[in-house]
Amino acid sequence: MAYYHICPKCGAHLDPGEKCDCREKEEKFRKQEEEIRKVIRTERSGQMVLVL
Ligand SMILES: [Zn+2]
Repeated sequence: MAYYHICPKCGAHLDPGEKCDCREKEEKFRKQEEEIRKVIRTERSGQMVLVL
């Protein structure tokens, strides 16, 4: 009998005790986005300006 659980977030089949990496990936993506927001500023005109 196959025993696994399904990640409630992404639906991936995981072994018991295995942690899905989708959350980690999401976190990584969020951090990348944050980094980008730090260096890119959107002006009122809607133009994106790179802040150095
Ligand atoms: Zn997942």
